[in-house]
Amino acid sequence: MDQSTQANAEQAFAHLAAGNQRRRVSFGFAERRAALRALSETITAREAEIIEALSADFAKPEAEIRLTEILPVQSEISHTLRHLKRWMRVRRVFPTRAMLGTKARIIPESKGTALIIAPWNYPVGLSLGPLVSALAAGCAVVLKPSELAPASAAVIADIVGEALPEDLVRVVQGGVEVSTQLLEQPFDHIFFTGSPRVGKIVMAAAAKHLASVTLELGGKSPVIVGPGADLKKAAKMIAWGKFANAGQTCIAPDHVFVAKQIEAPFLAELKAAIAKMYGKTEEAQHASRDLARIINPDHFARLTEMIAEAEAEGARPLTGGASKPESRYIAPTVMMGTDPSMKLEQEEIFGPVLPVIPFTDPDEVLARIEAGPKPLALYIFERDRSLIERLRRASTSGAVGINIALAHYLHPNLPFGGIGNSGLGAAHGHYGFLAFSHERAVLENRFAPLGMLMPPYRGARIAKLAQ
Ligand code: NAD
Repeated sequence: MDQSTQANAEQAFAHLAAGNQRRRVSFGFAERRAALRALSETITAREAEIIEALSADFAKPEAEIRLTEILPVQSEISHTLRHLKRWMRVRRVFPTRAMLGTKARIIPESKGTALIIAPWNYPVGLSLGPLVSALAAGCAVVLKPSELAPASAAVIADIVGEALPEDLVRVVQGGVEVSTQLLEQPFDHIFFTGSPRVGKIVMAAAAKHLASVTLELGGKSPVIVGPGADLKKAAKMIAWGKFANAGQTCIAPDHVFVAKQIEAPFLAELKAAIAKMYGKTEEAQHASRDLARIINPDHFARLTEMIAEAEAEGARPLTGGASKPESRYIAPTVMMGTDPSMKLEQEEIFGPVLPVIPFTDPDEVLARIEAGPKPLALYIFERDRSLIERLRRASTSGAVGINIALAHYLHPNLPFGGIGNSGLGAAHGHYGFLAFSHERAVLENRFAPLGMLMPPYRGARIAKLAQ
């Protein structure tokens, strides 16, 4: 283990932890608001650098950077500024009969020091978004962006360094080694976004210090296109949800179950939607400025091998299938004829490849979803309300999108998070604030007749209190 890495991690933690007690008193509403405003202004001032960095990391289209990286962080800040005073408010709660004569309050307090570990796929949004919640809650933060999007990590460090004092937020850059060292420090809360595999490592590390965790993980998010779906709208939504960021989105539709009786017209609409968004021909799609590239050669190889394995075993692309290693380009690809033994149906795809699987009975689909790990998102495209409700009630997932994909991420009043393998806890808005807060119970005795709770016990009076 590199000693300077260890020293850096220890120093970053110690520096923040030293200020914890002081911050409890001095980092109130006005100071948090000032920090959030400074962050927002610096992001605005450095927008061009953010766009440049994300383009350098994986040719992410400028409109997608604005829509999926900058807008969510700025909306998170404005939503938080609008509601923070209320979220921070002390709440009185009523006494029960046994507690008459006492005054009870709940005070949301900062958990203290927080570690945020971010992934590469939305490097800015998934670093700075949780940071907004942590600052709102009054935490000091060490933020570790992903090493796989290095230009973005550098711009994040610059933004944070300019907007916020070093004893409040530190960006520590690096990969697994740095992450491991940071996880050894006794942070009060760890907010991790990434794969379920690393989520388990994070939770085990947190257990050593009994730190609380928020785990924003991934997995396969299925789509069900029912017989009553509006096929044109469904196809458009699914194509956008899947191929935005070249499918490198935690809540991207992973694969589609389509009702057999509408399979052919659905596929025609899907093909048309892809052609409209990214171009009709292979050349046009490659030249499209609206399609991101795969993050690195390893992920590119993983995806092309998945496609090749499926093709070798009899699956075929309805559209797409082409790839260019030199630019890490993979065409928007729809795969037909996959089966459960193939990696495409087993692993989170996390790329622009969409298996479409026909079904005749919705119960088959429900059974297949139930047999796998709990999804982060489940998407249902259908107009028949009773079928929608049946599918929703018989399934579980972090979130459900009904005739919509991805957009629940942008709704600040919804908790964003998974369940089981797809995550633990929630982010965004008030839920993000609560993730970094401790709801401290305060009970004050005013004139409570508590003597009756003490020996010598009088059973009858105690029994009466319990009624
Ligand atoms: P990842 O788990 O490989 O890495 C995430 C972070 O963990 C990085 O900062 C990395 O440096 C660090 N890390 C990696 N290995 C580690 C180890 N052994 N010990 C300690 N730290 C380690 O994930 P990724 O490839 O960056 O992102 C893709 C995954 O993230 C997908 O599964 C995706 O679904 C998920 N994801 C989830 C959300 C969400 O909000 N739920 C959002 C984006 C991505």
